[in-house]
Amino acid sequence: MLHIICENEALKRAAHFYGRTLGLTDGTVVITLIDEHEHLGICDYFRAGNLAFIVLAKPEEPEELFCTLAHEMVHAKQYMKGELNFDKHEEYLAEWHGALYSISDELDEAYWFAPWEVEAYGMQIGLVELYLRELEKSGSVH
Ligand SMILES: [Zn+2]
Repeated sequence: MLHIICENEALKRAAHFYGRTLGLTDGTVVITLIDEHEHLGICDYFRAGNLAFIVLAKPEEPEELFCTLAHEMVHAKQYMKGELNFDKHEEYLAEWHGALYSISDELDEAYWFAPWEVEAYGMQIGLVELYLRELEKSGSVH
């Protein structure tokens, strides 16, 4: 079973939906909302314990939060399923499905074109769309 720890009930519900949709069946995701950060969201992962930490910065539009959460949940999925690894190598070397990628700290070309980011940006759109449909079905949105 996937455990979601989050004080915000709306975010917690969305995270459960995203996790289910992404096929996550176990592990723990801790989600924290903070006022300000240089990034909209970050996801850290500790393989020992299968534990993901997602930090979200409050955006100008509250709805953006669900989109950023979807993006970070895709990264949690990539770590939990072993598709993406940073911990085995040097800090700016990533392993994606067994292939090595060199990345930098800046949001440059390497960031935008990294396959795990392309997947996260691509899937976040579908995840939010599916979640909105789910909310409509259950009558939470009118
Ligand atoms: Zn990302």
